[in-house]
Amino acid sequence: MARELVDDVHWIRNCHPDDGRHLHMSEYLLRDGTDTILVDSGSSHYREEIISEVNRLTDGGGPDVVLLTHSTLPHTENVPAFEDEWGETETIAATGRFPEVVGLPDAEVRQLNQPVEFAGRPFTCIHPLLTDVTVSQWAYDHESGVLFTAEAFGHYHDAENCGQTSAEMEGGIPMEHIDDFYMDKLPFVDFLDREKLGDAFEMLFDILDVTYVAPIHGTPVAAEDIDDYVDDVMQALDPQSVDS
Ligand SMILES: [Zn+2]
Ligand SMILES: [Zn+2]
Repeated sequence: MARELVDDVHWIRNCHPDDGRHLHMSEYLLRDGTDTILVDSGSSHYREEIISEVNRLTDGGGPDVVLLTHSTLPHTENVPAFEDEWGETETIAATGRFPEVVGLPDAEVRQLNQPVEFAGRPFTCIHPLLTDVTVSQWAYDHESGVLFTAEAFGHYHDAENCGQTSAEMEGGIPMEHIDDFYMDKLPFVDFLDREKLGDAFEMLFDILDVTYVAPIHGTPVAAEDIDDYVDDVMQALDPQSVDS
């Protein structure tokens, strides 16, 4: 299923049932005229759904560029299927200098924290401030102001909130869904330097004009909710706040 988040940026989502709640498995499609960029390739569980949504949104043309937020499974596992479906695409990996070691022999790597263009659209691939693996990147789309954040800023959601943004959820994103996500997916966060991380978040959101924080495993967070949401994430990352 897909919906347009802001002009030309489509949120493609599938929901993974997880212990009574759902976990988003999302990709984002940016379409400018006939130029199309797909952020992440998604999980093979949802391969058919993703391919059919991308076909619907691109009149069968598929993406020109696949921009990966992770160079690990399951975020990469549809890349070969995409090539079968749409022919060769430009695949941008998120890794050091050797995408072949993570099974992406034809992928390119772009330097982080430097402006680049994908399909003529200005982007900055960002060294992730918070992530599960080092072969990961965030990406900021300068045209729409959407910040794609890979594994960071994820959370679970309830079945009645599947397609909503943070601004549409009554009472916002529940704290326990944020807490549980970090506990399950990024358990090492107890060892982070929270002060440094908090400062880095503050600086990033001061520099960038972000319209949406778009995680792969969570509801897109609208501009007006970002400050509160970052506070909630910082609280979730605080081992003292975990009630036993
Ligand atoms: Zn993931
Ligand atoms: Zn759902």
